[in-house]
Amino acid sequence: MSEAALGDTATHCPYCALQCGTLLTATGPEAADVAAASVPAAVPAADFPAVAVRPDPDFPVNLGGLCQKGWTAPELLGVADRLRVPLVHGRPASWDEALDVVAAGLRRVQERHGKDATAVFGSGSLTNEKAYLLGKFARVALGTSQIDYNGRFCMSSAAAASNAAFGIDRGLPFPVTDLGSADVVLIAGGNPAETMPPLMRHLEHPRLIVIDPRRTRTAAQAALHLQPAPGTDLALALGLLHVVVAEGLTDAAYIGQRTHGFEAAWSRALSWWPEHTERVTGVPAVLLREAARMLAGADRAYILTGRGAEQHSKGTDTVAAFVNLALALGLPGRVGSGFGCLTGQGNGQGGRELGQKADQLPGYRSIADPAARAHVAAVWGVDPASLPGPGRSAVELLGALGRDVHALLVFGSNPVVSAPDAGRVRERLSALELLVVSDFVPSETAALADVVLPVAQWAEEEGTMTSLEGRVLRRRRALTPPPGVRTDLEVLSALAGRLGFDEAAFPASPPAVFEELRAATRGGRADYSGISYARLETGEALYWPCPEGSPGTPRLFLDRFAHPDGRAVFAPVDHRDAAELPSDLYPLLATTGRVLAQYQSGAQTRRIPALVKASGAECFVEVHPDTAERAGLADGDRAWVRSVRGNTQAVVRYEGSLRPDTVFLPFHFAAEGSANLLTNPALDPVSRMPEFKVCAVRLEAVGTR
Ligand code: SF4
Repeated sequence: MSEAALGDTATHCPYCALQCGTLLTATGPEAADVAAASVPAAVPAADFPAVAVRPDPDFPVNLGGLCQKGWTAPELLGVADRLRVPLVHGRPASWDEALDVVAAGLRRVQERHGKDATAVFGSGSLTNEKAYLLGKFARVALGTSQIDYNGRFCMSSAAAASNAAFGIDRGLPFPVTDLGSADVVLIAGGNPAETMPPLMRHLEHPRLIVIDPRRTRTAAQAALHLQPAPGTDLALALGLLHVVVAEGLTDAAYIGQRTHGFEAAWSRALSWWPEHTERVTGVPAVLLREAARMLAGADRAYILTGRGAEQHSKGTDTVAAFVNLALALGLPGRVGSGFGCLTGQGNGQGGRELGQKADQLPGYRSIADPAARAHVAAVWGVDPASLPGPGRSAVELLGALGRDVHALLVFGSNPVVSAPDAGRVRERLSALELLVVSDFVPSETAALADVVLPVAQWAEEEGTMTSLEGRVLRRRRALTPPPGVRTDLEVLSALAGRLGFDEAAFPASPPAVFEELRAATRGGRADYSGISYARLETGEALYWPCPEGSPGTPRLFLDRFAHPDGRAVFAPVDHRDAAELPSDLYPLLATTGRVLAQYQSGAQTRRIPALVKASGAECFVEVHPDTAERAGLADGDRAWVRSVRGNTQAVVRYEGSLRPDTVFLPFHFAAEGSANLLTNPALDPVSRMPEFKVCAVRLEAVGTR
């Protein structure tokens, strides 16, 4: 029976793609005064959040659990430096003045340089309604092709590989709860024990095989941990496929009946016999064979990828190699088995299928497809010929700032910290004629902005999110936003009006936007047309594709894959080196990732005292003790980590389980200690994913030159 009480608001955590169910309870002013006594003096009592959070026991994904980020999420509502008034060149301004400055700046830039000189940078944290309206605003109100979002850094390689293999991309094409009945789960480059801890409750029964250069908390719980050198996951996947085929462990009937292209894929894996794979990856051949046999011997098995496998200049091929392995074993499209990707951002899934990606229109439609353009243009009431074509991907867009692009609107993203080669990104942002940031905290990117627009956040707004399993969820409002704050939808509507468009065509009401979104996605690969707020309010679990009248699709591919002939497609992929290899000057491999108590660029979680206490307040670098000693560094020392692109300071943490050739830095920190000052913007040729997960660095004691 539900423990929800009258007055509870059932909603979801503001952070990751697991979208844990939560119940928010208003605590009132008296309760807030009491609670404020136990929080740091920097948080004014009047600003202390007036809600308490607890897990929703009826939501099956988190099974009554939350991680520390979820438990502390209410504090985000009342952080001391919460934005409450628009800023124009750093001084407080009225909303009318701020929006007038933005509209005039956009018009001025377009008159001087053309429509594509204005650009939009969105986020995988925005609700579906915001992501949809942002795409429409860019293509209709600005008439620009220049829109992309930070999800490009998150999911794009897995999306590209899944689309090619299966004809559709949904992070997990099955409910999270299915994982619990598996015998074996292989996780390549994912660390859910830190990034989404409640997911581990579904992984208590299966034996885990974890592929990760680091002995993460997830790897520590695994039956088998394979520890390849950064940048060699693709070779490892080829080696696993080699063992499966060479030992006759494939599902030949499945390959024959449900797939194409096995022979071509196998021809690439042919040379990856285990001892050769060991030489390239560093993973012992004996462990490789053991992993392949464990996976192939399971009745029910899943293969999951995370950012560790995906954030490479060969990320698409790396994911494709793991898909090949899954197809060879006959896993995708079988109940209790499958292939999936652990999406990271809260709305990473919905964010990429509703129109804020450079090459897509709502419904996961290609912007280059004439039929798709005609359908969406009809919903928008515009001439299809007026819709711009594909724009630049995120890294390429950031690189064009101050060159071809002179005005940028940023919604819910902090690229100064989260983009690769972050020093260059700061330079490019500073070269703009107009930078506008819509956010609820003064992020590092907002600090550079000409205009900052203060907006509502999770517990103050209505909308929907689509979780990593493709389930559409209601985000519900438990609090009134603070005075002076508007919603992103209100911002877009008002800006469209100032640019000469009918504000009614850019509605500020989430239900109205969702109704339009349903029509725009109708018939698309990600079809939301059968989903409504009314159905969601009844508690229905609705997974896309959900055409009108449909119960939704919790499990994809059971009968057929989404290609016209119903078959999945093997990809003939082979290993290649990372874009940057160690050298005499930069002899170590750096890799980056998340820690339990922080989230993404840290703009939100670095403002929560309990989370800072748990993670530490500054960047650290994990180093094998032998490697550190060779660099003259002791545990706790402050070090310079240098790459060819930049330098960052970090506190040395000895980590004996790390490979001696590898160091690890979390990417949540800013200023002098920012991991992305080092990272390589080299792009995957298909997904345009940058190579966050491997670059060449050296370590020096601070003070050394
Ligand atoms: Fe929130 Fe993700 Fe933690 Fe769940 S696992 S509480 S969704 S951050």
